[in-house]
Amino acid sequence: MTVIDLLSYEDALASYDPVMGLEVHVELGTRTKMFCGCSTELGAPANSQTCPTCLGLPGALPVVNAIGVESAIRIGLALNCEIAEWCRFARKNYFYPDMPKNFQTSQYDEPIAFNGYLDVQLEDGETFRVEIERAHMEEDTGKSTHIGGATGRIHGASHSLLDYNRAGIPLIEIVTKPIEGAGERAPEVARAYVAELRELIKALGVSEARMEMGQMRCDVNLSLRPHGREKFGTRSETKNVNSLRSVERAARFEIQRHAAVLSSGGTILQETRHFHEEDGSTTSGRIKEEAEDYRYFPEPDLVPVAPSREWVEEIRASLPELPRVRRNRLREEWGVSEHDMQSILNAGAIDPIVATIDAGAPADQARKWWMGELARNANETGRALDELPITPAQVARVTELVAAGDLNDKLARQVIEAVLAGEGDPDTVVDKRGLKVVSDDGALGAAVDEAIAGNAGVVEKIKGGKTAAVGALVGAVMKATRGQADAGRARELILEKLGVEA
Ligand code: ADP
Ligand code: MG
Ligand code: ZN
Repeated sequence: MTVIDLLSYEDALASYDPVMGLEVHVELGTRTKMFCGCSTELGAPANSQTCPTCLGLPGALPVVNAIGVESAIRIGLALNCEIAEWCRFARKNYFYPDMPKNFQTSQYDEPIAFNGYLDVQLEDGETFRVEIERAHMEEDTGKSTHIGGATGRIHGASHSLLDYNRAGIPLIEIVTKPIEGAGERAPEVARAYVAELRELIKALGVSEARMEMGQMRCDVNLSLRPHGREKFGTRSETKNVNSLRSVERAARFEIQRHAAVLSSGGTILQETRHFHEEDGSTTSGRIKEEAEDYRYFPEPDLVPVAPSREWVEEIRASLPELPRVRRNRLREEWGVSEHDMQSILNAGAIDPIVATIDAGAPADQARKWWMGELARNANETGRALDELPITPAQVARVTELVAAGDLNDKLARQVIEAVLAGEGDPDTVVDKRGLKVVSDDGALGAAVDEAIAGNAGVVEKIKGGKTAAVGALVGAVMKATRGQADAGRARELILEKLGVEA
């Protein structure tokens, strides 16, 4: 592998300003494809969800998916864009085996949505406005799998397999205007933008936007220019970056790489690059085509899209509360800091916490469990919080048992672990394992007697006036009851039995 020269991040920023452009592709969650009635369901046998239209057979005619258009408008409006009164699809011509038509039906100079912005929040609570150039509709390509090579790439492969189930699935591509002025925070801005966009897309209900499943992927364009220079430098375009962390790392790496090239008098090629998860590096892909290489022209088989103003206003009125607004509302309701809210967001805990509160739990308890025990478990088992085998209602039930004094924190943790381990719902676990707080004097009394009998020294101290030493005896009782004793009641009983005033 060739070694890539990098300048230190600090040195790079000392001489250059980064300019970024982010292109995000979102796969819509429509039931059918963009231009035919084929199912979009994942996991079907290869090539079982195809038809003459999405296979590009001669004579087949496409029809636009109305839900696809509506979703594009929803996204456009949520991004504060203008919505075109009239726009067309275009053919983007190129030959590649994963695209049987030999052109991609896309939009070119007439996007459905344009001129918007998205405000994103940075770690320090500051807001950065990212301007949106356009959001347009297009279709996904098929999927190729290269067999026989070492890396899964086409180089060295003996043959390739093609699955056209994905060909024609609706995509919305959202393109930013050049992002300037972020300085050293450029990688953070990139990450925060993609994170906010993902939240937005999910809130709009147009896609689950799971990056790890390729439902949302980002191309990171980056260039540097010397401080004080107006003109942009040449950009590189790192393709298909598919996690938030990778977006940030890719931007950072490219800043350091560009700086090394430029500061040693070299020139940056306008090229696409591949991002490598293992070490956060990028390597050269292909030299970038100019738009004219694609021979764009208006798609003759589809009528123009002309959304009526009434329809657009209807869609606008149906938009949900947007994530940033909702987050600020919840932050105030829960009384947490911006920083804590950011952690809750990063953990993917907002929706589980809200659902747990809706199921009857106090906000601080809901937060405590999802950000504590459950976050830890999710982390350890490599799952998202909403993939854990416990429901918000079950978590709410645990908090209810704690509030009623039936469980203490330690027992509650055991109950949660048992629910996660598949032992049933909280009440079943409590019954089966006998995990109730022991507060009846009979059972507790025996443990208290034992603790008194076995700790003569401590008893002496307590009788001598050091009531604080009672903690040691309570500890012994807790140990003997495997944490199930009602600590408060145990303390009372001990003092009572020793004839000491509390
Ligand atoms: P392409 O399809 O060739 O990638 P687009 O216009 O769709 O071109 O996207 C280019 C992205 O890069 C946009 O987000 C744009 O704002 C941004 N961009 C354009 N020029 C530069 C540059 N010199 N440096 C950084 N970003 C740039
Ligand atoms: Mg691009
Ligand atoms: Zn089809």
